[in-house]
Amino acid sequence: MYPSPDGQPTPDRSPNEPVTWGKFFLITLGVVFFGEIFLVGWVIPHVWPEPGSLWQEVSLNALLLSLFTAFALIPIFIRFEQRCSTGEKRLLLEKRMNEDIVRTLSAHKLALDQLALVAETDPLGIFTYVNDKFCEVSQFSTEELIGQPHRVIRSGVHPEGFWKDFWHTLHSNKIWRGEICNRAKDGSLYWVDATVVPFKDARGSITKFVSIQTVITRRKSAEDSTALRIRLLHALNSIAELESADPTEVLFLALEKARENLLFEKAVLERLENGSLVVEVQSPRTTAVPRPETCGKLALKAREVLAIPRISDSPLAKDPDPRHCGCESFIGTLVLVDGQTYGTLAFCSTVPREKPFDDAEIEFVRLLARLIGAVLNRRNALQILATKNLALDEAKKNAESLAAAASVAAKAKADFLANMSHEIRTPLNAIVGMTDLLLDSELPRRVHEHIDTIRTSSDSLLAIINDILDFSKIESGRLEIESTPVSLRECIEAVFDLNAARASQKRLDLLYWIEPDVPAFVLSDRTRLQQILVNLVTNAVKFTETGEVMIRLRRQRDPKEGDFLHFSVKDTGIGIPEEARDRLFQVFSQVDSSTTRRFGGTGLGLAISRRLAEIMKGKIWVESTPGKGSDFQFLIPLHPAKDPPAHPFQAKNPDLIGRHVLIVDDNATNRWILSEQTKSWGMIPREVSGGREALALEEAGEKIDLVLLDVQMPDMDGYTLAGELRSRRPDLTIIILTSLADHDHSRLKTLRISRFLTKPVKATVLYETICGAISGRPQPTLKPQTGFEDPEIAGECPLKILVAEDHPTNQRLIKLMLERLGYRPEIVGNGLEALSSLQKIAFDVVILDIQMPEMDGLTAAREICRLHPPGKRPWILAMTANALEGDREKCLAAGMNDYISKPVRPSDLSAALRRAYNRQTLSGGKFR
Ligand code: ADP
Repeated sequence: MYPSPDGQPTPDRSPNEPVTWGKFFLITLGVVFFGEIFLVGWVIPHVWPEPGSLWQEVSLNALLLSLFTAFALIPIFIRFEQRCSTGEKRLLLEKRMNEDIVRTLSAHKLALDQLALVAETDPLGIFTYVNDKFCEVSQFSTEELIGQPHRVIRSGVHPEGFWKDFWHTLHSNKIWRGEICNRAKDGSLYWVDATVVPFKDARGSITKFVSIQTVITRRKSAEDSTALRIRLLHALNSIAELESADPTEVLFLALEKARENLLFEKAVLERLENGSLVVEVQSPRTTAVPRPETCGKLALKAREVLAIPRISDSPLAKDPDPRHCGCESFIGTLVLVDGQTYGTLAFCSTVPREKPFDDAEIEFVRLLARLIGAVLNRRNALQILATKNLALDEAKKNAESLAAAASVAAKAKADFLANMSHEIRTPLNAIVGMTDLLLDSELPRRVHEHIDTIRTSSDSLLAIINDILDFSKIESGRLEIESTPVSLRECIEAVFDLNAARASQKRLDLLYWIEPDVPAFVLSDRTRLQQILVNLVTNAVKFTETGEVMIRLRRQRDPKEGDFLHFSVKDTGIGIPEEARDRLFQVFSQVDSSTTRRFGGTGLGLAISRRLAEIMKGKIWVESTPGKGSDFQFLIPLHPAKDPPAHPFQAKNPDLIGRHVLIVDDNATNRWILSEQTKSWGMIPREVSGGREALALEEAGEKIDLVLLDVQMPDMDGYTLAGELRSRRPDLTIIILTSLADHDHSRLKTLRISRFLTKPVKATVLYETICGAISGRPQPTLKPQTGFEDPEIAGECPLKILVAEDHPTNQRLIKLMLERLGYRPEIVGNGLEALSSLQKIAFDVVILDIQMPEMDGLTAAREICRLHPPGKRPWILAMTANALEGDREKCLAAGMNDYISKPVRPSDLSAALRRAYNRQTLSGGKFR
C-alpha cells in the first residue's frame, strides 16, 4: 500500500488477503441456520408427516429458536468480525507503510547519490561510509577511504582555525554548513558546499557524522576569477595613477604593486643590451629570488604573454637555467617603447602555481607591459628634455656672457660716440658760431664767399655727425620712441623753417597741405617724425633746382589694420632712375657717386628714415620720374591724441566770413593751397596766376577786400603789382608773400605794405595776418627767422645773463653772440664760479655748459635749485655738445629749464632767450 497524498490507506484489498475469524464464524452460523431450516422444513415433515406431532412441534420451535438466535447472534458476530479485521488492518497498514518508506528512501538515496557526495564518519572522523559520487569526485575508491581519517582529502587551503571551528560545531551537537576545499587523489583541488550532521544514540552520545556535499568548484573558480579580475583592474588603475617626478621611481612602485597583486615573489624589468637582458628595475630591490634568464629570453621572442605556472611540469624543466635559479613559476612579456623592443617584464616565484594562470592575470601583465612602455617613453622624453635644457642653459649662459660682452662693447661704443660727438661739436661750435658772426658783418665779397663756404662745410660736417650718431643709436637698439601729443602742422612748419633759407636761395616754393580729416594732434614722437621729414625735405631741396617741394598729409583709412598717417614729400627735382630706387634706403647708398660729389651727403639719411619709420611701425617708399621729380612717401599708424588742445582755426573769425580775397601767384599749387585755406575760414577766394590778370580783375570792378600777393612772379613781380594796385586803390589791403632772399624792407615801406609773410607760409601765421589786416590791427613786430635778424630782442626781452663755459674759444663765441643780440653777459669758467656769481648778482638766466672742470653743469644746476627757492630762481639753460639720447632728460632732471645743443645757432639762442623771458614773466618770476 502506497500512502495516498493525504496519508490515508487506500480501501482496495489484495487477493491473497487471509480469512478473518469473524468471517469464519458467520459462515458457520449461516450453515447451521440453513441446515436447521432444511431439517425443520423438509426432513421432519417427511420423516414425521403427521401434522402437530411432537417432532414436528419440536422441530418448528427449534427452527424459530434458531432463527431468533441467528438474528440475535448476527450483530455479535458482526462486531466480533469487525474487531478482528481492524487489528489485522493496522498491522497490514504498518507493514505496507514500512515498505513504502523503504522504497521512497531508496529512491531518495538513488537521487542523492546522483547529485551529492555522501559520507559517514565515526566520531573520530574515520570514514565508515562513502557513496559512489564521493569516490568519483575524490578519485579514491571506497576501499581506499573506509577506515581512513577525513584528513586524507584535506587540501591545506584552509587555515587550522577553520578546522577547529568545524569540529567544535559538530561536537557541540550542531549541524555544520560551509564551503570546503578538498584535494583529490591526483592532487587537484575541488570545492564542496557541505552539510555535516552529527547523529546520537539513545544516551545522547555522538555515534557518527553524516555529510552531504555538492561540488561547487566551477562556481568557486568563477567567483575567484571575477574577484581576481576586479583586484587586478584596481591595481592597474592605481599603477596608472602613480605620480613621481622620477620615472624610475614610478617603475619601481608599479612593479611592487603588480608583484603584490599577482602573488609573485619577484618582479623585474629588464633592458635588452647587446643581445642580453640587463636588470633595469626590480622588486624587491634586493631579493634572493634570481631572475630566470631563459624565461626572459623566451618572453622576448613570444608574441603573447608567456605564462608557465609550473616550470617543473613544462618543457623548460629540462633547461638547466630556470631550475638552477630556483624559479618554479613564471609570467612575463615583451616591453616595447615607441614600437621598438626595449626588454621584458617578468614575474617569478620559487613555488609552483596550483592552477593555470587566470586570463585576468595574463591580461594584467600585457597591459602593465604597455603601461611600463609608456612610462619609459616619458622617461626618455624627459631625459631628452633634460639634455636639451642643459644645452639650453649652456647656450643661455653663453648668450648671457656674449650679451654682457656686447653690452660692455655697446657701452664702450656709446661712450666713445658721446665723447667723439662732444669733442667734434666743441670746436665745431666755435667754427659755426664765428662764421655766423663774420657773415653778419661787413666783409669784402671774396672773404664773405670763403667764410660762407666754411659755414656750409661745417653745417655738412654737423649733419654727418648727427647722421652717424643717429644711425649708431638705431643700430644699437637704444633708440626709444616717445608717444606724446604732436601738432602735425607745427611739426611740418618746423621742418620748413630749417630748409627755408636754402629753399629761398634756390627760389623754391616750400608748400604743405594737410587734408581736413587729419587730426590736428596725434600721439607720436615729434623728434623722430620731424627727423624723417627733415631728411626727405632736405633731400628734395637739395635735388631740386626749380619748382617746389610740397608736403602733403592724408589720413589713410584701413578698417583692418587701423588708420595711418600718409606723408608725401614731392619735389620737382632730378628724379631717381627706377633701378636705383630700392637700394636708396640702404646705408651709405646713393644714386651714383657723382651726385655725392655734386650734392654731398653720407647716404645715411634715407636708411635712417626707413629705420625710424619701421620703429614707428610704418614703412617708407619712393615714386619717381627721372627728370620730373620724386615723391617720397611714408606711413605711420595714426593715434589721435585724446584731448587735443583747441586748434586756432577751430574758432572761426566772423570778420573773415564772406570777405573777397584775390590770390596772385604763378605757382598753381600755392594758389590752390591759399585758396583752400581761405575758403576754410569762410572767405571767398579768387585766384589768378599773374599781375596782368589781377589788374584786369581790378579794372573790371571785381570785389576785392584783400590781396594775397606773391613777390616772385615771372612777368610782373609782386612789388610792381603791389605798386600798380596801390596807385589804383590806395586803401586796398595787400599782404605780400616774400622769401628771405626777396625780402626788401625799403620797397615794402615805400609801398605802405605793413603786412608781409615770409615763405614758407605757415597757416597759423597766414590766419593771424589776415585777421589783423581785416580788423585793421597793426601787424605785430616782425619776428625774424634767425637770431641775428632779431636785434631788438634785448630790448623786448631784457635779461641779465650769466654764462658758465670752460672752453676759451666758446666763451668768446657765446659772449659775442649774446652781445650781437644786445645783451651784456657775464662769463665764468665753471659751475662753482657760477654759484658764487649768483650769490652776488640776481641773474635772470644762467646758461650752463655741461662738461666743465671743478663743477659740471648738472651739479651746478642742482646746487642752484637747492640754494634758490622756485620763485626766486634764475632760468637755467643748458648749452651742451652732448647731443645724445637722454641728455636733454638728464638736464631737465637736474632742475634745468631748457636745453640748446652745440653748435649753438643764433636763432636757437634767441628763441631760447625769448622762451625764458615769456615763461618767467608768465609764471610770475621777477626780473630785476
Ligand atoms: P644723402 O642725401 O646724405 O646722400 P640719403 O640717404 O638721404 O643720403 O639719400 C641717398 C641718395 O638718394 C642721395 O644721395 C640721392 O642720390 C638720392 N635721393 C634722395 N632723395 C632724393 C630726391 N628727392 N631726389 C633725387 N634723388 C634723391
